[in-house]
Amino acid sequence: MKLLSTGNPKTLKGVEQGFNTYILHLAPADVSGFEVCPKRTKGCTDACLNLAGRGGMFKRGEVTNVIQEARKRKTVFFKEERAGFMEWLVADIELAIKQSKRMGLTPVFRLNGTSDISWEKYSVVRKGQAFSNIFEAFAEVTFYDYTKVLGRRVAGITNYSLTFSAADGNELDVYNAISQGYNIAVVFGLKKTQPMPESYLGRPVFNGDESDLRFLDPKGVVVGLYAKGKAKKDTTGFVKYPTIMLKAA
Ligand code: SF4
Repeated sequence: MKLLSTGNPKTLKGVEQGFNTYILHLAPADVSGFEVCPKRTKGCTDACLNLAGRGGMFKRGEVTNVIQEARKRKTVFFKEERAGFMEWLVADIELAIKQSKRMGLTPVFRLNGTSDISWEKYSVVRKGQAFSNIFEAFAEVTFYDYTKVLGRRVAGITNYSLTFSAADGNELDVYNAISQGYNIAVVFGLKKTQPMPESYLGRPVFNGDESDLRFLDPKGVVVGLYAKGKAKKDTTGFVKYPTIMLKAA
């Protein structure tokens, strides 16, 4: 079983900038029978990008596909055979580094493609040496993720970039995340042809759809994302409609 994948249309934009993003997609929420998104909301669960692209294509009359089943298997592997999973992840990252080198690209890693796991909690072994977590084991590469979990113990981890995600009902966490120095990702109910608002939450808005390379973003911004898939029909408050855009529409 391959844990990491490339080829997501948005991460492919990073190739033009010399980066090769490898993503770990697990089965989000409690789809596998195990919860992997401790701070999920109704809105984000309903609009989750787990069902975007080929992951959401089902044959007539079927409710699953090979991609969804693989994500469930990986999640169960992580939950039930932690040491084996982490060993496999280390091996996959080693391979990705070699593969990217051959391609002349810099490998970068997003382990919460469709989950929100606090990876800093899990120890690993690389080349016979024990490390507190995967970031320490691969100090030479960059990791990045979105999260809704505030208070993760990542302060001293310099090769892991986290962007905090706004959703329906987590406003207090968003304000706390801002005070802790996080950039905030916000999904806006806009068409791709419409410009992002200039500011939101009192901060300049940065178009986060131009690439997925969040670790390159300027600090102190809102990372604006266009609503995609089911998010376009969101009514929970997960997707934001700032007043300024309603006036302009
Ligand atoms: S927390 Fe993220 S991965 Fe989990 S259900 Fe919400 S949007 Fe999907």
